[in-house]
Amino acid sequence: MAITFEVIHKDIAGRVGKLRVNDKTVRTPALLPVVNPHLPLVTPREMREMGVEALITNAYIFRRSTEFHDRALAEGLHGVLDFDGVIMTDSGSFQLSVYGEVEVSNRDTLEFQQAIKSDIVVPLDLPTPPDAGPGRAARELAVTMERIREAQALFPDANLAAPVQGGIFTDLREEAGRAVRDLDFTFAPIGAVVPLMESYRYKELVQVVLAAKRGLSPGTAVHLFGAGHPSMFALAVAMGCDLFDSAAYALFAREGRYITPHGSLKIDELAELPCACRVCRSMTADELRKSEDRERLLALHNLHVTLAEIARIRQAIQDGTLWELVDERCRSHPRLLDGYRELLAHVAELERDDPVSKRRFFYRGSETCRRTEVLRFHEVIPRIPLGERVLVSFDGQGAPGFDTVLNFKPPFGPYPVELAETFPVGQSEVPEWDDDMVRSGCAGIRSLMEAHPESRFTVQCGEVWTRLVLEEVPDAEVLHEQV
Ligand SMILES: [Zn+2]
Repeated sequence: MAITFEVIHKDIAGRVGKLRVNDKTVRTPALLPVVNPHLPLVTPREMREMGVEALITNAYIFRRSTEFHDRALAEGLHGVLDFDGVIMTDSGSFQLSVYGEVEVSNRDTLEFQQAIKSDIVVPLDLPTPPDAGPGRAARELAVTMERIREAQALFPDANLAAPVQGGIFTDLREEAGRAVRDLDFTFAPIGAVVPLMESYRYKELVQVVLAAKRGLSPGTAVHLFGAGHPSMFALAVAMGCDLFDSAAYALFAREGRYITPHGSLKIDELAELPCACRVCRSMTADELRKSEDRERLLALHNLHVTLAEIARIRQAIQDGTLWELVDERCRSHPRLLDGYRELLAHVAELERDDPVSKRRFFYRGSETCRRTEVLRFHEVIPRIPLGERVLVSFDGQGAPGFDTVLNFKPPFGPYPVELAETFPVGQSEVPEWDDDMVRSGCAGIRSLMEAHPESRFTVQCGEVWTRLVLEEVPDAEVLHEQV
């Protein structure tokens, strides 16, 4: 197959990579705008000028269109759409989920997608809705896997994507991911998550995506099917999603909705246009609202904001600041915060992919204490050699009579002075200490004590922390700092 994926930078489970399809390259994370040939609010040529390297369109629409069917077969999609980047086609399984039927077989759609020169073709999978029980989800997954295998057998040279289904059942999603890995696919969309996103079920979204990722090979490019709003891209990328497709820029524009990285606003309620794009800087909110070209201008703005967020995420991965961006974005809606907290509940699996060293670590409140870097510090710190009498000094003053003196930095915990300049101690910025971060640091002291039962521990801290330290580290002696 002529799809390859190369990971270049990593942060959490997110990656900056290069997807190569035939002779074309797409930088990831990437956004594939959804193009409807009948209603192109923004043309593919304009998208190309905005930096779009890949788009997605629906083979089902071309198949049924009296206007485009023959042209697509004669000129190919790139000719009809006037776009020389990567074009992926969806098989029409979305229509299946909406209308309950499609008239084409798996073989038909695969033949048609190839005949219209799609760069990435998708078998006719069954998107299981979130309200389906485990029996139905398992039966439908079996059908999807059968169709993926059929696709591979019929068209071994095609650029096939292998959708991962399984409804809301994490065991099925993981099994589906493993099956796709065993078939050696480089490109795997995670399907049927749109209803979860539309109803703000981000906690379940995180569970389902992480389950699929556990099954998939780390070398597989993962496309989150139908993920449209930029406020959740950072969260999805942190889980290891590499590509998104978005119809939201156009759908929202039709509804008069103005996308921002934090959420969307009704254009009718806006007094200002808080954005740097050409549309927003060339007119007032009132002018945009009253413009005859309102839908198209809104779509241009929405797409600009969406693409800018993808660029911001790619930069954050290279800077090692994706956690900070996830934290910021997920505070824009309480249900996104649920998704973020669910992600933090899985740090043990995320930590394996997370880089050991980063440029910086900013403390942003209690959630920060559960990040990968803190977990790793608590796993690594027990390895430092200790003497018999150990002092953990909150202010670094030290005291006579100890064999080992360690400093203390929350939310990490105790560290030897040699590690003062290394990540994360040296590169972390924390505000005035709060209870959450000191408790997290005390967990680091406990890890150290468990690993060194032969040593005796004393914690030297200001009076303000005495009670908390006694609660968190009851087996240590507490020594007050010299005033
Ligand atoms: Zn704008």
